[in-house]
This record gives sequence, structure tokens and C-alpha cells, in this order.
Amino acid sequence: MFTSHYGGVGSLESMRAASEAGTKASRATNETMQIRRELNRLLMINEALWEIIRDREGLKDDDLIRKIDEIDLRDGVLNGRRAKQTPQDCSNCGRTLPKRQPVCIYCGTDAENRDPFGT
Ligand SMILES: [Zn+2]
Repeated sequence: MFTSHYGGVGSLESMRAASEAGTKASRATNETMQIRRELNRLLMINEALWEIIRDREGLKDDDLIRKIDEIDLRDGVLNGRRAKQTPQDCSNCGRTLPKRQPVCIYCGTDAENRDPFGT
């Protein structure tokens, strides 16, 4: 037993639990920062690719905005999110293809016409 900084009484177990929670929180913060760095880099790469294409093809930023809205509206709702993909069935065995698998895991048939941006 000990007296905490807050004037209460705690046990060794509660101290250990608090320390573990602090470690998990710190790890989550580090992961979040890493994801932000990666996201920032991906945004920069996206911007670079767009500017190369725009300048080579004589496009305008409005063309990009219109295309983004067109993709956004494929599910009928302008909400800043892509439409959810509906699962496809294997053309050979008819079973549902798992997401992001290039071949059917049941029979090995190539998963044709998969959406490369499928989520
Ligand atoms: Zn199959």
C-alpha cells in the first residue's frame, strides 16, 4: 500500500496497471505520429504526381476536383468517401473472393477485374 500523489491509497497492482496504461498510451501516440508522417508523405507524392500530370496534359485543378466529386458520387452521396466495394464471386468456383487477394484462395483462379483501389 502507498499514498498516491492525489492523497488516495493505492496498491502495487494499481501502480503497475497505471504504468502499463501509460506505456500503451505512449506506444499509441508514437504509432499515430508515424501514421501522420506516412500520410503526409503520401499526400506530397499525390500532389507531385498530380502536378506532373496536370502540367503535361494541360489540365486545371478544377479537372481534379470534378474527378474527385465524380468518384465520391458513385455511391450517390457526396460525403468525401469512396463507395464501399461489394464482394465479388470467383468466376470458376463461385465462392466469395476475399479482399485484396489476386487469386481465389479456394481454387487458385485469377481474380479478374478487381478494383485496384478496393478497400
Ligand atoms: Zn475459385
